[in-house]
Amino acid sequence: MSEVLVVIDHAEGEVKKPTYELLTIARRLGAPSAVFFGSPDQGDAVAEKVKRYGAAKVYVIDDAPIKGFLVAPKAEALQQLVEQASSNGDLAAILLPSTFENKEVAARLAIKIGSGLITDAVDVSAGSDGSAVTTQSVFAGNYTVQAKVTTGTPIITVKPNSAAPEEAEGAGAVEAFAATISDAAKGAQVVATQPRQSTGRPELTEAAIVVSGGRGTGGNFEPVEGFADSLGAAVGASRAAVDSGWMPHAFQVGQTGKTVSPQLYVANGISGAIQHRAGMQTSKTIVAVNKDPEAPIFELVDFGVVGDLHTVLPAARQQITDRSA
Ligand code: FAD
Repeated sequence: MSEVLVVIDHAEGEVKKPTYELLTIARRLGAPSAVFFGSPDQGDAVAEKVKRYGAAKVYVIDDAPIKGFLVAPKAEALQQLVEQASSNGDLAAILLPSTFENKEVAARLAIKIGSGLITDAVDVSAGSDGSAVTTQSVFAGNYTVQAKVTTGTPIITVKPNSAAPEEAEGAGAVEAFAATISDAAKGAQVVATQPRQSTGRPELTEAAIVVSGGRGTGGNFEPVEGFADSLGAAVGASRAAVDSGWMPHAFQVGQTGKTVSPQLYVANGISGAIQHRAGMQTSKTIVAVNKDPEAPIFELVDFGVVGDLHTVLPAARQQITDRSA
């Protein structure tokens, strides 16, 4: 069976959900091998996690020598791994979670190995010849495009929430991979980092529930945040709320923000502009609270509440608190 490389998304060995989604997708194309850039000390623990989603092998690439050197060393290491994997057998695809960093790594890798690249796929399946066929949502979600790579080994970055992670037992055999990193790849180095203050809430793109607020909040996000916390949800915002300086850009959902696809999306005081829809319309269940019964968001929803969010959300929060008491 062909091998499929899946680059693990993690924070200090804590594997993130998009990795499990990618391993699930990879099994449609061949036998997944996970690629872990991190500390070799964490390799076994990471392998234990990813093998539950079908990883047959886990390549561990010690990131100590490349830490802080931006993306070029990762692309170089992957190039060498791809060359080894290709010489050992058939390599069906290389899948990476669609993060800003991974998209740059993927682009550099594509040039190095002479392969085609598809970014921001929302689904990947096996075509009639077994090769990877991707689905992408383009032009603010107005079109869905099916595409395939026609040159080299397909390199595909996949957006979070593109598949429900499905468990499958894999061998999870750990294999250390020693990459040789050139001086040229270490041409730029990070000199300082400042972690964003943690909100204690789930990551927006990974959350099962997202509660968003728009211009209708009038700048008071307390009802939105309070309701989100009662559900253990992430908080999102429309561009109008971000442009008004009420929320940072990291919270923006939409065409020029993040794409979310949670089980439940609650839009509060958001009109439902096409650019906002582009980032949330694949949510499983959509609820809107808006005081205007004609608001376009109501065309999209499964449940709609016509009312003032400053009244509706605290009341809903109270109901949830009472029921869970
Ligand atoms: P509005 O459209 O002003 O809607 C506010 C809504 O709140 C109204 O429906 C109103 O009835 C309701 N309301 C008011 N008061 C209350 C209340 N007390 N209780 C309940 N409801 C109330 N937008 C994004 O969101 N994300 C993007 O990524 C994005 N990218 C863009 C990219 C481009 C190139 C362009 C041109 C635009 C983009 N936009 C984006 C902007 C988008 O077109 C809209 O302007 C924006 O989404 C509107 O935000 P909103 O719904 O919060 O505000």
